[in-house]
Amino acid sequence: NKLVVVICGGGNGAHALAGIAGSKDDVEARVLTLFADEAERWTNTMKTNDFVVNFTENGSSLKAKPALVTKDPKVAGEGCHIIYLVVPAFGHRQYLEALKPYCRKGTIIAAMPGAPGFEFEVREILGKQLANDCILMSFESLPWACRITEYGKGVDVLGVKGFMKGSMHGEGGPTVLGNSPLEAVTYGQGSLGNRPTLICKGHLLGTTLIAINSYLHTTIMYGRWHDWDGKPLAEKPLFYNGLDEVTAKMLEDVSQEIQNIAREIEKRRPGTDLSQVVSVRDWYLDTWPNHIPDKTSIYTILRTHKSYPGLVHPMEPSKDGNGFVPLFTQRYLTEDIPFGLTVTRGIAEIVGVPTPNIDKIILWAQGVMGKEYMVDGKMAGKDIGETRSPQRYGLKTVDDLLG
Ligand code: NAD
Repeated sequence: NKLVVVICGGGNGAHALAGIAGSKDDVEARVLTLFADEAERWTNTMKTNDFVVNFTENGSSLKAKPALVTKDPKVAGEGCHIIYLVVPAFGHRQYLEALKPYCRKGTIIAAMPGAPGFEFEVREILGKQLANDCILMSFESLPWACRITEYGKGVDVLGVKGFMKGSMHGEGGPTVLGNSPLEAVTYGQGSLGNRPTLICKGHLLGTTLIAINSYLHTTIMYGRWHDWDGKPLAEKPLFYNGLDEVTAKMLEDVSQEIQNIAREIEKRRPGTDLSQVVSVRDWYLDTWPNHIPDKTSIYTILRTHKSYPGLVHPMEPSKDGNGFVPLFTQRYLTEDIPFGLTVTRGIAEIVGVPTPNIDKIILWAQGVMGKEYMVDGKMAGKDIGETRSPQRYGLKTVDDLLG
């Protein structure tokens, strides 16, 4: 009577989860990777090698293999209890479509990270009924900072979070795990071990709105580059520690706009818990209690954060070889705009909350990305179909958003 877990993806996070869940006696860990030849490479490598997870913080390691690695959704999906999505947001759709036939009442679908619009995507692909029958969990991030050491052979876990926040939809009833009410969080925890502690609280829309990268990365990019003169820089500027005061103020304003959206939804639909949606400063103080020497303001928080020294803006060498120019084809824009800020802006439009700062960022970003998400103040640009903005799914009302 094992807990059958499907790990979707073939990257760093999938490697870590495959080893960690694979080490539990009561868990059958199956990996489904649909990308390129990953399933074949991983399977072949495991035939003649151990699979090792190294925890670099304390020097310990785990030797444990997943039960199987496959690109066949049937092999992975049949009889599964938990589906973990451990790929960037653009990859969620293909796994949801592939595993839909194996989702039943009580199947847990947990995304790590969920990223904005996760719930809209699930509802569109599974249909409202099946999406409601399943238990959806959306987490803010991955449980670990991790890097593959050698493909199919192992992974270094550089840090394990103390806790990981998320939200959940659906709670209990007769389930695939038996006829008792399902403790979804307990099962999720069971495949991860003691750390991080999973904290699931509030509506899924709260995880969508608080998704920090969606507005942190994009605001910092805007702040640094919106009035760039096009001349190469001699050095790559620091990303977080190099924050200026004007951008710090904008970050606070964007954070306030996001809180305004959440508070308006709570007002319009009393009982909806979006309490996860706090200010950017409170989010940092809560998430990183021991990493911030100067907690005075978001400016000092980002400039002194102990994990950020050395992290620079995404740059590439300039054509004339005289320095570096910003790279706008990097995930701070290519993920955090379509699977991030455009979702927030689309929600604001439906709720009727003005977002002048978010608008500025999207208009600038879509220009440098060569995309059109927003036109005439509406999320109706020709590229909206590439985003997870609610307009892409035809959602129109607050009730549509809440599902
Ligand atoms: P990764 O970059 O290692 O994952 C890449 C995997 O995604 C590939 O192995 C492949 O399976 C799939 N993929 C890549 N391109 C694809 C494509 N074009 N089509 C289909 N599938 C494709 O990612 P990761 O490090 O495992 O992280 C997963 C998510 O967690 C990301 O959103 C990342 O930002 C986030 N995250 C990662 C870390 C970390 O330490 N690795 C920490 C926090 C958050």
